[in-house]
Amino acid sequence: MRMSQVVAPTLREDPSEAEVISHKLMLRGGFIRKLAAGVYTFLPLGFRVLNKVSCIIREEMTRAGAQEVLMPTLLPAELWQETGRWDMYGKELFRIKDRHDREFCLGPTHEEVITDLVRTSVRSYKQLPVNLYQIQTKFRDEIRPRFGLMRGREFMMKDAYSFHTSEESLDKEYKNMYETYCRIFDRMGLKYRVVEADSGLIGGGYSQEFMVLAETGEEEIFHCSHCDYSASRDSAGIGKWKVEAGTPNSELRTQELHTPNVRTVEEVSAFLKIKPSQLIKTLIYETETGPIAALVRGDHAINEAKLKKVAGVEDLRLADAAVIKKVTKAPVGFAGPVGLKGVKIIADTVVPLVEDGASGANKEDHHLVHIAYGRDYKAELIGDIRYAVAADKCPRCAEGKFEVSRGIEVGHIFKLGTKYSTKMNCVYLDENNQEKVMIMGCYGIGVGRTAAAAIEQNHDKDGILWPAPIAPFKVALIPANTSEKEQLETAEKLYAELRSAGIEVLLDDREDRMGVKLKDIDLIGIPIKVIIGKALKEGKVEVKDRKTGEMKLVEVKDVRNICG
Ligand code: ATP
Ligand code: MG
Repeated sequence: MRMSQVVAPTLREDPSEAEVISHKLMLRGGFIRKLAAGVYTFLPLGFRVLNKVSCIIREEMTRAGAQEVLMPTLLPAELWQETGRWDMYGKELFRIKDRHDREFCLGPTHEEVITDLVRTSVRSYKQLPVNLYQIQTKFRDEIRPRFGLMRGREFMMKDAYSFHTSEESLDKEYKNMYETYCRIFDRMGLKYRVVEADSGLIGGGYSQEFMVLAETGEEEIFHCSHCDYSASRDSAGIGKWKVEAGTPNSELRTQELHTPNVRTVEEVSAFLKIKPSQLIKTLIYETETGPIAALVRGDHAINEAKLKKVAGVEDLRLADAAVIKKVTKAPVGFAGPVGLKGVKIIADTVVPLVEDGASGANKEDHHLVHIAYGRDYKAELIGDIRYAVAADKCPRCAEGKFEVSRGIEVGHIFKLGTKYSTKMNCVYLDENNQEKVMIMGCYGIGVGRTAAAAIEQNHDKDGILWPAPIAPFKVALIPANTSEKEQLETAEKLYAELRSAGIEVLLDDREDRMGVKLKDIDLIGIPIKVIIGKALKEGKVEVKDRKTGEMKLVEVKDVRNICG
């Protein structure tokens, strides 16, 4: 392609709306244009990258034995009502009505649609297992669409779904997909880590996420210093602490102190001159089975997904002021476990180890100090209900500590089990002509997010450093001075030669100054630059590596081999 023709409006300055580097560079390099919050047009350069990513995914999925399909994005509500997700999915689901007032949504994920397809088109065990995938636009009305392609409201996803007659068959395909994902991200030249994950709204059983490592990543990855355990912050388990009643210092009897207008962990610990880790934070939640009180140390944060599991509830939300008042007899900010009645108390595993604790006194403007588990309060349940921190022990080997790094979730693989197939009656006939429910897996990759993650991992002060397999062009030919006939002719000749050799090449035939052209080509991250300038007098051109900056003088006739 000729740079003079490419619609790639590059910008000199960082656009003010962009917070992360990939978003800035994609806007500055003329890869994407925003149409609305979380909604983007792909310009020619951006679309080339998107297609490169899709192509690698498609090749590897096909190699793995999956079959490509294309499902609609306009989905009837009835399907979603069958699984209950029409209500569960909440505001993230884009809902619309047709002219007859029938309800539809724009697909955020396709478990329902694929399960419907398979239940009506696969009958016999002989047709299983099967893995179907598509690369298609998804819609999610994210609370905070941001960071460009990272968290869009309309975005491209590869989603695959597999159907099985046994757990062993699912395990085998899950492993196949795991390996396929590794090949996909390896081929793209990305550094990544696979972590244990929370299954979120998709649900089901075990799941793992593929995280592209980048300091700017949104996700924290907890990796054991001793074994190979790796997990996302949401799902990182915590190694066992010895749980026993605290051994309270008998000298220090519980005391109630006047703490006017002191509510938050910071305010309380500063006022009482204690460490946040001594404070027993007490949060009241409402659930379908009534209110519960969750206790964690002041320096820890409750993980609601874990709390749900330990409490054995489906519906969990922070109680409002009225409920808190009813339960604790005090306004918000003064709840504590001592004397708390009529609610189930659930404590985090390390709460009982706090020997000299403090908490709200369940009385306006008052706190208790010198409280101890076992002597002053107890919990009905003790479990892992908080996010792990770096100081925690690994749950697998119980030896190592966590090392925390950052990453971007680009892929997610799930063992769904029968969550969808049971609800939607997706059955097959086994060898004995008996109806059995299919067992499912599902596997997603964010196509645009992967491109953005590649930039977060690969950039420098001048712009993008695309890994060659997903770069919009592999080579840029830059005649230093387009008014020099010989330079232009050589550039044209090389352009024709590289193109006929199947090398993707961009000819910067613009009449701009050399400095301007180089800046743009570096910004858009073309891996190899061929600069046709003064050395042409000796029959040579400069070939420069974008990433290493390494430069070679090469005979014109050798350019094709060097770039191939
Ligand atoms: P997140 O936790 O980041 O919201 P998710 O768990 O909701 O992601 P999945 O439902 O597992 O994501 O979707 C599969 C893949 O689709 C993700 O791994 C991610 O790469 C991509 N993806 C999800 N949401 C978005 C989005 N809003 N914009 C771009 N890509 C997305
Ligand atoms: Mg999400």
